Amino acid sequence: MKEKSKLNENEKPKIAFFDLTGCNGCLYSILNHPALLSIDESIEVLKFRLASDVDRDLSCDVAIVEGYAAVQEEVKMLEKIRENADKVVAFGSCSSFGSIHSIQNFMNVKKAIEDIYPDNPVAIETPQKAVSIDKHISVDLKIPGCPPNADEAVELIIDLVFGKMEPELAKWPVCVDCKMRENVCVFIHGAPCLGPITRGGCGAPCPASYTCDGCRGPIEEPNIASEIEYLKKYAKEEEIIRLFKRYASSSPDFEKVIKGEINSRD
Ligand code: SF4
Ligand code: SF4
Ligand code: SF4
Repeated sequence: MKEKSKLNENEKPKIAFFDLTGCNGCLYSILNHPALLSIDESIEVLKFRLASDVDRDLSCDVAIVEGYAAVQEEVKMLEKIRENADKVVAFGSCSSFGSIHSIQNFMNVKKAIEDIYPDNPVAIETPQKAVSIDKHISVDLKIPGCPPNADEAVELIIDLVFGKMEPELAKWPVCVDCKMRENVCVFIHGAPCLGPITRGGCGAPCPASYTCDGCRGPIEEPNIASEIEYLKKYAKEEEIIRLFKRYASSSPDFEKVIKGEINSRD
C-alpha cells in the first residue's frame, strides 16, 4: 500500500478529482469557480479529467469523488481511492445518495436492458444499485446536491484542504433559503414540496419555478410524519413515495418512508 499523503505545512496539499458514473454536472459546477482558481497556486491538483489530462500518483490529501459506483470496476476504483487518500469527499448527490440514478433500484433493470437493447442485452453490464459511496468505503464529508451549490461546495473543499475547521453543511431546511429568495411557496399552488425536510444551503433555486424534490437529502432529525401529513393534502400516496425515491432514497430517513415505516401523524 502506498503511503498516504499528509497535510503538511511545508508542502502544497494534493487534491484529486474523480468521476464515477454520473453526468459530470457536479464537477462542471466548480470547474471555473473563482475561489477554486484563486487557490490554484497553493494546491497541487493530481487529477481532474474535465480540466486537464494530468493524472499523477494518486496518493493525495483530499479525494473529491463525483458519481456512484455503477459497475464492479468502479467499486474497486473507490477502494483504491480510499486506500490512497487521507480524506475522501462524496461530491454531489450521486455519491452522497445515488441521486436520480437510484430510481433504477425500484425497477426491473434486467428487463429494462432487454427492452432497450433487445439485439444484444448481455453487452450491457447490469449496474450495481445506485447508492451512496459510503456503502462501499468510509467517507469524511458529503457535499450533497444535484449539482451542489458551487459557492458552498468550494468553500467546504477549501476548508477541508487547508484544515481550517471541521467543514459543516447548512443545518436549516430549504424553506429558509426559499424565504430568503422571496419565492412564493408552492404549497399555495397545491404542489407538493420536500423543502421543509431537505437540507438547505442551495439557495432554493427549484421552488422558484417548480418544487424542491429533495436532492440534498434530509436535514438532521426531519419531522417526516408532519411533512407527509402536509403532502397528503396535495398528492396521492404513490406520488409522495415517488418524490422520496427521486434523489435521496438511500438516506436512512427517506428509506424509511419508502418502506412504509414512517407515515403521517393521522
Ligand atoms: S449529482 Fe446530479 S449533477 Fe452531480 S453527477 Fe450526479 S446527476 Fe450529475
Ligand atoms: S416552496 Fe417548498 S421550500 Fe419553499 S417555503 Fe414552500 S415548502 Fe418550503
Ligand atoms: S431546492 Fe431542493 S431540489 Fe433544488 S437544489 Fe435545493 S435541495 Fe435540491
